[in-house]
Amino acid sequence: MHNSSRFGKILFLSLIFILLTIAMTMTENTKKTPEHHLENGTFVNTNGTANNKKLKELWKWMTGKKETKAIPIEFEMVDPDLKLINQDKSFSITWIGHASFLYQNKELNILTDPHLTNRASPINFAGPQRYTKPAMKFEELPKIDFITISHNHYDHLDLKTVKWIAKNNPDSMFLVPLGLKKWFLDKSINNVIELDWWESHIINDTKITFTPVQHWSSRTLFDRNQTLWGGWHIKNNHHSLIHLGDTGYSDDFKETFKKLGPVDLALIPIGAYAPRWFMQFSHMNPNEAVQAFIDLKAEKAIGMHWGTFILTDEPVDEPPLKLEEELEDRSLDTKSFITMIHGQTINLNKD
Ligand code: ZN
Ligand code: ZN
Repeated sequence: MHNSSRFGKILFLSLIFILLTIAMTMTENTKKTPEHHLENGTFVNTNGTANNKKLKELWKWMTGKKETKAIPIEFEMVDPDLKLINQDKSFSITWIGHASFLYQNKELNILTDPHLTNRASPINFAGPQRYTKPAMKFEELPKIDFITISHNHYDHLDLKTVKWIAKNNPDSMFLVPLGLKKWFLDKSINNVIELDWWESHIINDTKITFTPVQHWSSRTLFDRNQTLWGGWHIKNNHHSLIHLGDTGYSDDFKETFKKLGPVDLALIPIGAYAPRWFMQFSHMNPNEAVQAFIDLKAEKAIGMHWGTFILTDEPVDEPPLKLEEELEDRSLDTKSFITMIHGQTINLNKD
């Protein structure tokens, strides 16, 4: 009797010990693996969702009756201010088109999602063709220090463009989302740093942080969400900027403000939103873009991701018009959230 009760006690204590060990290992594991990293190696958004649009839905959109139709139109273009761009310690922003900007923050020349070729497609004879040519030629680019890539979709990551930049700026550094470094190494582009959400890279006085947005990734039929997506927050003593890449509306903007504070300038996508039933998850319309601007508590914003490629159904000149309407409806200053002319350079010293 005595022995069996002792045996029972040891058994009970061992069981508790095993359970505690399992619990501790589990806590350790969840601590080590962020929630947006799934066990199968893919990523999800901060709210746990993944873009699960099926081929069937893509087919329905592509073959369905369209409420509106996007027809290319010729937008005004201006020459970039090369004099200002080539000044020492230049402080300016130039819209090259779509999500591509040249941003100069007095110490670094940064290119965002650079796309300076003719198509946003894996093949060079089909796929979305640009109807507004890139507002800067390769030869017009100044020496580039950093290139930020928001995600691997073809309108944001263009092989020919990144190859040219790497070849002609051997010291430049590519900052890319987690999982995307391998793609660059495979193309013999070796100066690459990949970051997870909220991780930062510091160079001189500039701190560059990768922030979460609601989107997805893929370059082939078989690699959905295997690399991360996000926005880039760039800050030094003079200025702060965020480039949101491609994103649907989510709480990420409020969280970004909470963690990183207000920004001087936000580059916010305002195009590629129709039809809503298909696009809402991954792209904001101007109404949501204005809400993102408010959530970020940005001083100023520039609407991007429009006027360059036809990716969706809204008329190509609609995003800036709707943006202005939206700002007026909310009694906000229309000069606080603007769109630029292709090629326009804004002198941030004067802004
Ligand atoms: Zn995208
Ligand atoms: Zn895009």
